[in-house]
Amino acid sequence: MSHYRAVKGTRDIFPDEVIAWQYVERVIHRVAALYAFHEIRTPVFEYTDLFQRSIGATTDIVGKEMFTFQPDPNGRSITLRPEMTAGVMRAFLQSSRASEAPVHKLYYISDLFRKERPQAGRQRQFCQFGAELLGTSSPAAVAEVIAFMMHVFRLLGLTGLKLRINTLGSVEDRMRYRDALRAYLLPFSGELDAPSLERLEKNPLRILDSKNAAVQDIVSGAPALRDYLQPAALEEFEEVLGYLDDRGIAYVQDPLLVRGLDYYCHTAFEVQCADLGAQDALGGGGRYDGLARELGGASDLPAVGFAVGMERLMIALEKQGLLSELPVQGPEVYVVLQDRSLLAHAVTLCGALRDAGIRTEIDLAGRSMKAQMREANRMRAAHALFVGRDEVAAGAYGLKNLESSVQQALSLEAVITELGHG
Ligand code: AMP
Repeated sequence: MSHYRAVKGTRDIFPDEVIAWQYVERVIHRVAALYAFHEIRTPVFEYTDLFQRSIGATTDIVGKEMFTFQPDPNGRSITLRPEMTAGVMRAFLQSSRASEAPVHKLYYISDLFRKERPQAGRQRQFCQFGAELLGTSSPAAVAEVIAFMMHVFRLLGLTGLKLRINTLGSVEDRMRYRDALRAYLLPFSGELDAPSLERLEKNPLRILDSKNAAVQDIVSGAPALRDYLQPAALEEFEEVLGYLDDRGIAYVQDPLLVRGLDYYCHTAFEVQCADLGAQDALGGGGRYDGLARELGGASDLPAVGFAVGMERLMIALEKQGLLSELPVQGPEVYVVLQDRSLLAHAVTLCGALRDAGIRTEIDLAGRSMKAQMREANRMRAAHALFVGRDEVAAGAYGLKNLESSVQQALSLEAVITELGHG
């Protein structure tokens, strides 16, 4: 065995698992099409300042979790993307697409990189599927992205989900609240844990999220964000909830829900799954109207999006037994050779079958017929096609249905017809 190991916090996904991934990806693509979202792919790395500017220098991600490097001595610093929204927005602003249509609906299934402490459901390379709806601040648009996300879960059959939702108000509302919250928390400085103390200066709203019981106790007496919101923000939120009600999407309002990234405003949401253990956040999202301007866009661009962790989604589906019926697809035909001298003929035969759209496998290692049959069965091939000297001479091959064991002698054309591709 080689002594090389995958880097801590990364993992390999072998074919039997990839089957499950492809199935989930197909569902995502299908639902995206139903909602008229279009896929976008952006580079795996971006200039570091894009993330500093967008995610916010005070966040954990930018503060300590980015894989950053300098490609050459005088080059600009580069970072492996820790999330997709910044790159998508950068790509969008860089292109001239904003002027082409009023509203843009984009989605992705992409790998991300964060230098976190690896544990179950927390990796250093992981994958997210997500969507960004750009160009409208309509509450119906917020409900649309939530509906897209929940529709994927529904089609997959996932249960035990809890959609928590809150409004953070406008950026100004949030700033006023931040100051009030900091003023409330300052006298408790001696009782806060280290992460909360760190957040007190830079990002006190995140303290509301703390899982530490002592901190939660202090937080329970804090001023409520709701009291700092303008009536317009509250009305808008009510509208979002109304659209969710109309679509039959269940949610719970959680006034303590804040999202980790700086650019969120108004509606924020998160989905938890009871089957995920400690890392129970399956995904989340919200509105981020100010991001475009932050990145040098001419004006604010209303935007709303979500991201769901694919590994956690796979764990939840697995736990709920929703992936068990997905065997690796075997070949339709396994070509079995009498001996190696027939390989050239058999390879040509394979080519014809594949050209006809038939999934075909052949033993390239020159093993015995018995070993080839064993392999055909192990791979769950639907048929074996016997190619011996007599068959080649007669131009008719032995096609054996491996389930019924019925065998017939057929020409190549007849094999293709028999397998439904004629
Ligand atoms: P975030 O971009 O931090 O809001 O994360 C959205 C979702 O991505 C989370 O709810 C997780 O499902 C997933 N996620 C975030 N970080 C990781 C990680 N390090 N490993 C695996 N999944 C993650």
